[in-house]
Amino acid sequence: MSNEPTSAHPSRRQFLAASAVTVGALSTVGAAPFVPQRRAYDVVIRGGSVHDGLGGAPHVVDVAITGGRIVAVGASLADRGRDEINASGMAVAPGFVDIHSHGDGSLREDPRAESVIRQGITTIVVGADGGSRFSGEAGDSFVDWESRTNALAPAVNLAAMIGLGSVRGKVIGEADRKPTATELTRMTAMVERALREGACGASTGLEYTPGAFAALDELIALCRPLAARRLSYATHMRNEDDQLLEAIDESIAVARGAKCGLQISHLKQQGTRNWPKIDACLTRLADARKAGIESWFDVYPYVAYSTGLENLFPTWAKDGGDAAFLARLTDPATAARIRIEAIAKAELIGGWDNVQISRVANPEDRDAEGKRLGSWAKGRGQDPYDAAMGLLQRNKTDVGMLGFAMSEDNLDRLLAHDFAMVCSDGGGFAIDGPTRRGSPHPRGAGTFPRVLGRYVRERGALSLPNAILKMTSRPASRVRLHDRGRIAVGLAGDVVVFDPATVADAATFANPFQYPIGIRDVVVNGAVAIQGGEHRSGKGTGRVLRAAV
Ligand SMILES: [Zn+2]
Repeated sequence: MSNEPTSAHPSRRQFLAASAVTVGALSTVGAAPFVPQRRAYDVVIRGGSVHDGLGGAPHVVDVAITGGRIVAVGASLADRGRDEINASGMAVAPGFVDIHSHGDGSLREDPRAESVIRQGITTIVVGADGGSRFSGEAGDSFVDWESRTNALAPAVNLAAMIGLGSVRGKVIGEADRKPTATELTRMTAMVERALREGACGASTGLEYTPGAFAALDELIALCRPLAARRLSYATHMRNEDDQLLEAIDESIAVARGAKCGLQISHLKQQGTRNWPKIDACLTRLADARKAGIESWFDVYPYVAYSTGLENLFPTWAKDGGDAAFLARLTDPATAARIRIEAIAKAELIGGWDNVQISRVANPEDRDAEGKRLGSWAKGRGQDPYDAAMGLLQRNKTDVGMLGFAMSEDNLDRLLAHDFAMVCSDGGGFAIDGPTRRGSPHPRGAGTFPRVLGRYVRERGALSLPNAILKMTSRPASRVRLHDRGRIAVGLAGDVVVFDPATVADAATFANPFQYPIGIRDVVVNGAVAIQGGEHRSGKGTGRVLRAAV
């Protein structure tokens, strides 16, 4: 599709297709000549500044959608839509594609995906960090997950990677050992099946067990099936602080060995002493490109990350799973060493007050949620390491944390970089209902508006068309969703209308339960889901999307 808007009027064929939904009206009109103002479309978005998603300058045109597809893009479309959206003064963009999301985790409880869709996101790519909700085996495959998910009528579309940690967990469990040849064959077949059925890539979370127990040769073997399908290996790397560059080298080695594309997940440099490594990170990725490896990264617009509290503790201590880990915390043979390594990890990011507890499982620890671990421990008269260990013990390791560890100047550079895509890495929640719990990272409700407000409008880190490109066509093409991520005739009817002068995130680390402002209308598969900032009632029109083969 070209950068230019297409003809000012729909072609006859598009017009007839568009009119098919108004058969009643047509049958009385018969073969009468063109009648202006007839309701020919499902939705018309009028007079907005339309960004096609490819990074070019916007054009003021109308966008018409019928039957879930964009059927006309042009100036002053004569025919009307059942839904007419006046976008004058607004930006109109393809619905945002969140290339690394955890928004699927709460869909069963609340398929409205409020914090997701209210950002203008219309497709989330899930199965990130090595964890997918299917393993690729018969009875637990992509299509099983697909039908379960479609039955929920989610508000947004989903595409899914196969998580190599989930594959390993299914076959090997929580043990820190290599797979046998038979096991590796079985694991590779699971990846193959998932990709054949529509998975859009393979992911790892090499800081998380059991995925962390995989070595380079295993990762290469499991990523080989990606190559023929031109899909990518997306990795939450083994390390994002002191061994960051070694971890990038390993990621590139996997892509080189498997001959597939590479996508570094949520690229960052943790800990002030590692901030200067940004140059070496970007140079390595540029060198990989020169060597023929399609290298990309995604990034979220915050200086804090979110993970499990146990992630401050060494990987070697988690061999065998949670019970074994908890036992080692107090085992005289291992306790002292674990303590030293965990304290060093906390100090790397500036100490225990840069650790904020986001979620606990044990109701008695609720008061820790939203608090900095250092001051929370002090209030209890406890040593912060002991407080952290106590939380893990009482919550059977199920404790979430945020780590304030990154540089905002680096963030400007990462967002502006040519290889970048915007991701949220966030969960889905609502300000009401069962998904309002804990004190989650605000990225789950703020990421895309925050990039458009803070990093485009306020800090000028990147232009609006470039930010939109990194939220739409680029991620869509990385996961081979070829009919998404652009505004052009024939593409899916996923559109967001927002006010570039006011768009902003409202969710904060102190109060994440706030929806963004300035995201006015969101259309998913041709149906208006958010109108004038309000969620329309009724079933969601999202569904599972399969990667193009
Ligand atoms: Zn991650």
